Amino acid sequence: MHCHSVLAVAASLVAGSILSLAADEPAAKSAEPKKENFTPGGKWKHGDMSRPRPRVITPPGMSTQAAPGQPPSDAIVLFDGKDLSKWKQAVNREVSDDAPRWKVEDGYFEVVPKTGFLRTREKIAGDSQWHIEWATPSEVKGSSQGRGNSGVFLSGFPELQVLDSFDNDTYPDGQAAAFYHNYPPMVNASRKPGEWQTYDIIIERQKKDDSGKVIKKARISVLHNGTVVQWGREFDSGTQESDLALQDHGNPVRYRNIWVRPLNLTDPDSEGTPPPEKK
Ligand code: MG
Repeated sequence: MHCHSVLAVAASLVAGSILSLAADEPAAKSAEPKKENFTPGGKWKHGDMSRPRPRVITPPGMSTQAAPGQPPSDAIVLFDGKDLSKWKQAVNREVSDDAPRWKVEDGYFEVVPKTGFLRTREKIAGDSQWHIEWATPSEVKGSSQGRGNSGVFLSGFPELQVLDSFDNDTYPDGQAAAFYHNYPPMVNASRKPGEWQTYDIIIERQKKDDSGKVIKKARISVLHNGTVVQWGREFDSGTQESDLALQDHGNPVRYRNIWVRPLNLTDPDSEGTPPPEKK
């Protein structure tokens, strides 16, 4: 501790004692800096210049109907508009290898009915942020669950429904942005059939203490077209890593611009960069 801070603490103790006497309260016993001078967690002081700086990234570009935006610079890109090299087809009775059967066109890929689920080859561990863009067919066919049906499956959580829910009534726990047979979305933020829509999904994994007791349930939040539709939904899942599977429900739904970012929600400082050199 520097001399001047010792003096400052001493001075404040004296001042504190006088105030304490006046207020008939015990005097401060310690020269430790006050707790309220620390940010939450108690490790870093208010305005602490020795604290690691948050990593600098390039944020995502804005997607338009005409073109997808650029993923953020620290994302793992799962589909960049070109090929399905990061994906595999579910093997079933008809297909014996996992080569993707869905078709890639002009920056997007499309469900080919009766080929089965498409699934990422990679699993992403830990807390994570997922971005998915999708469009139901512009030519409206069918009704209720038969119209533009697909779905997003992240291991450990129920289906996040993909459906044409623009002026298409169905059961609320099965409409677009519902966690199927669990939670309807808070609002219906659907765009028209044929228009590109976005899901931004945040996963927080189940946490246990050293004795193995669950101290935090798995939680998942969803924004549909930039609108919060599911917030902190809790599920009894201990899954610590997820792949992303997309549903073949027999409708030619399209997908583009899919990426994921692992998140460090527990200790982001540990991923920071050192403070710049003093000049
Ligand atoms: Mg579905």
